[in-house]
Amino acid sequence: MPSDDADLFDKVVNLCKRRGFVFPSADIYGGFRSTYDYGPVGVLLLRNVKDAWWRSMVQLRHEVVGLDAAILSPPAIWQASGHLANFTDPLVDCRKCHARHRLDKLEDPETCPTCGSKGTFTEARQFNLMFKTHAGPVEEDAAVAYLRPETAQGMFINFKNVLETSRKKPPFGIAQIGKSFRNEITPGNFVFRTREFEQMEMEYFVPPAEAQQWYEYWCKERFDWYVELGMPKDKLRLRPHATDELSHYSSGTSDVEFLFPWGWDELEGIANRGDYDLNAHAKASGEKLEYFDQASGERYVPYVIEPAAGATRTAMAFMMAAYDEEEVEREGTGKGESRVVLRFHPRLAPYKVAVLPLSKNEKLVPVSREVLGLLQPHFMCDYDETQAIGRRYRRQDELGTPFCVTVDFDTLDDRAVTIRDRDTMAQERVPLDALVDHLTPKLG
Ligand code: ATP
Repeated sequence: MPSDDADLFDKVVNLCKRRGFVFPSADIYGGFRSTYDYGPVGVLLLRNVKDAWWRSMVQLRHEVVGLDAAILSPPAIWQASGHLANFTDPLVDCRKCHARHRLDKLEDPETCPTCGSKGTFTEARQFNLMFKTHAGPVEEDAAVAYLRPETAQGMFINFKNVLETSRKKPPFGIAQIGKSFRNEITPGNFVFRTREFEQMEMEYFVPPAEAQQWYEYWCKERFDWYVELGMPKDKLRLRPHATDELSHYSSGTSDVEFLFPWGWDELEGIANRGDYDLNAHAKASGEKLEYFDQASGERYVPYVIEPAAGATRTAMAFMMAAYDEEEVEREGTGKGESRVVLRFHPRLAPYKVAVLPLSKNEKLVPVSREVLGLLQPHFMCDYDETQAIGRRYRRQDELGTPFCVTVDFDTLDDRAVTIRDRDTMAQERVPLDALVDHLTPKLG
């Protein structure tokens, strides 16, 4: 089922470039294959998504700690994890138009979606998605290294280090945010599927008997996280995997899916991975990766519940969910116009406040800078003195800025400013002395 606005995808992609959220990478050289750069506003949105995740997964919990593991990694890790043998997608080529597709993502495995030909696919080949490189100056087998295709293995190989230094005991978690790389056969749908992307993953180590209970707990927690950050419930669903869809080590996986313009698709997977990963690394490395409970004298390999989300993909989903258009009266003109507004949750909004001097008149500059200086230690602010005020409001609406603070000539006398609310467009006058206290509870 596609989302209601047929043009939503194009509108969001255009807005991303026009307003500095996301640029095609290497733009001045004609772009570089489904690779993107996050611009001045996009970097703030992405950072806010990651901060919101870290806050809920690490800061607000006593039993979860953070990690930042290396991206470059030796083959031994991927040999043990099974990625060297199994991290593959089935690839087919159309003999007629030469388009390349992932067989498992085709609606009809007999028909080429590019040219419509039937029965023209080559035999499927298994294609390993890991990026291979060489560490050091010699390109020999002994120097082979991989860019990690997921952040998760960093948690498993550091299980012992973290256990010993953090003094945690199951249930406890290790969380990590960082870049991952997959040589995707068919990247696409803008930043939805790219070869370089960011993940937010947590491995939650639990006593085996409690695994099912924690799996259910994390499915609910992770679904609620999106809702609390403003995603409408009717655009979000939790889809349990069918038995034939499960990875061989998983005894339960559910995806949090968002209703993208092209239909339901994955934002995050929550999986009950059992003791597969710790056992695999223990066997390959010879280290004991288990927990010894001194109180009961019991020794066991914890089971793992893994909520694995994509930061870049999720940031785009939040943008799509926040996108709105409406007919309004342009402030102070009595004339109607349509406005685009990103109704971001304040925690996710790139800028929280924009300081806008009413005009470029230099009498307004000192007090406008003073207002900016008052707000900057508390909130990420934009400052804009170009163009007519109405156009600047529209620009901030498109960035999703919850509040605009306008400095006018009365400010010079009454030491007060006008605050304009993004969603209601209502305006109110607030004294400079009370400005921070007025905005803080609204911005959280
Ligand atoms: P898919 O089926 O879409 O290829 P996956 O099930 O292989 O994804 P996981 O390995 O579970 O994905 O990775 C966890 C999360 O990382 C995904 O839910 C997604 O949000 C993100 N992710 C994975 N691959 C990509 C990619 N190529 N581009 C952007 N985000 C990605």
